[in-house]
Amino acid sequence: MLKKIDQLERLSRLLDPGPAECNDLFEQAGRYALATLERLPDTPTYQPDDGRNGFREAPIADEPVDMAELLAFFRSEVDTTGILPASGGQMGYIPGGGLFPSAIGDFLAGITNRYSGVSFAGPGAARMELSLVDWMRALVGYPETAAGDLTSGGSIATLSALVTARDACGIDFATIPRACVYLTDQAHHCVGKALHVAGLKDVQQRKVPMDDRFRMDVAALEALVNSDREQGLKPWLVIASAGTTDTGAVDPLTAVASIARQQDLWFHLDAAYGGFFLLCEEGRDVLDGIDSADSIVMDPHKGLGLPYGTGAVLVKNGGLLARSNAYYADYMQDAKPVFTADETWDSPADLSLELTRPFRGPRMWFPLKLFGLRPFRASLAEKIWLARYFHQELGKLERFETGPYPDLSIVTFRYLPQNGDIDDFNKRLVESVHRDGKVFITSTRINGRFTLRLAVLNFRTHRATVDYLLQLLQQKANELDY
Ligand SMILES: *Cc1c(COP(=O)(O)O)cnc(C)c1O
Repeated sequence: MLKKIDQLERLSRLLDPGPAECNDLFEQAGRYALATLERLPDTPTYQPDDGRNGFREAPIADEPVDMAELLAFFRSEVDTTGILPASGGQMGYIPGGGLFPSAIGDFLAGITNRYSGVSFAGPGAARMELSLVDWMRALVGYPETAAGDLTSGGSIATLSALVTARDACGIDFATIPRACVYLTDQAHHCVGKALHVAGLKDVQQRKVPMDDRFRMDVAALEALVNSDREQGLKPWLVIASAGTTDTGAVDPLTAVASIARQQDLWFHLDAAYGGFFLLCEEGRDVLDGIDSADSIVMDPHKGLGLPYGTGAVLVKNGGLLARSNAYYADYMQDAKPVFTADETWDSPADLSLELTRPFRGPRMWFPLKLFGLRPFRASLAEKIWLARYFHQELGKLERFETGPYPDLSIVTFRYLPQNGDIDDFNKRLVESVHRDGKVFITSTRINGRFTLRLAVLNFRTHRATVDYLLQLLQQKANELDY
């Protein structure tokens, strides 16, 4: 038996290479990362996929493969196809980030593998995450009794917020068919998904009309709530956006809050895209009233420039978040006594849908501490001004029609060709921008019309990138418009 165990140990020890080999792996990966960053300005932001699937020809097998070969494979099969989120040229959808110190944080999180879910297991790791949540709590202007959670993204943060709102307002099997949810057509689709997953797909969803700038019409909201109440229904939840995906519109937060208060509704705010604009004065002006929401979602992997995988939920009455998430099991008895939701909490898992989770603290903490807030504030203000600049400059070009002046950093626009179908022309225009590949923008439908949109958010997007897009749009439109 001992011989058998020793034999197995010799092989299993391959999982734990020594310092020299680790250093070699580290250096190779580091060289890859630095070369990638160096090439970034000259790398296309969009490279269409050829549909080849190299993974099929290289299945996971018993035999090891050399790191250099793996990096080459990673580059050709993953890192040269599709949209390049690390690039400042990524101005489609809602751009992401990829701060260098976040990668360092992820590396250290991975090596130490500290357990951030339960304070007993990783007191420092738990404190780090709770301190980051607390920083966001103060940023939105919530009281110290608020609580929150670092999630994988905005969708899960939204699910967590809506589950909390459901439990807090006693929405159950009996009340679901009468419960009314108010939102606009511009609400993100993750809201519908969260309602579904939370067992709430049979609530009454009311689409609140919008003004001509795609913001919730608050008078219409009030009328809908009153009419539902008169019919014996149960108005429950209003969902507003601080930065819609299509146009970046911010709903009138203070006015929505006032209706919510009068009508006893839970006010949930989707600030996944727009929330971190609170770091700059331009954004704070637009987001005035954000602290009046009962729950807020914001995405550090958008406005804060983190790599994908970090969203956040904040709930003003923190005990309610705990009430929906704190569970106890006997095998946890060393970690903590039975949880009571009225107490303070020191374990992220008591405020989260997750128990074991990636240690998300370092990817956020290292860049915030290393750079300090000043460059983040500047970058976010710069993005707002770049959107305003684009709106102004595109407005000067002939035949381009711009959408509303941007609330934040998204601009919608269309080209009005001399002949032919406008929708079809704009579809060809965005395709020609994709073929160029240097920068990337996307399209949407607004009031049924094919519309192009610019979203500036990546920390690497600066004026030269926007200028390139302006001249590219003009050139491509000229080529197509004959
Ligand atoms: C991105 C986004 C979401 C969804 O967040 P994920 O992080 O992609 O899950 C929700 N709402 C808005 C406004 C967004 O921009």
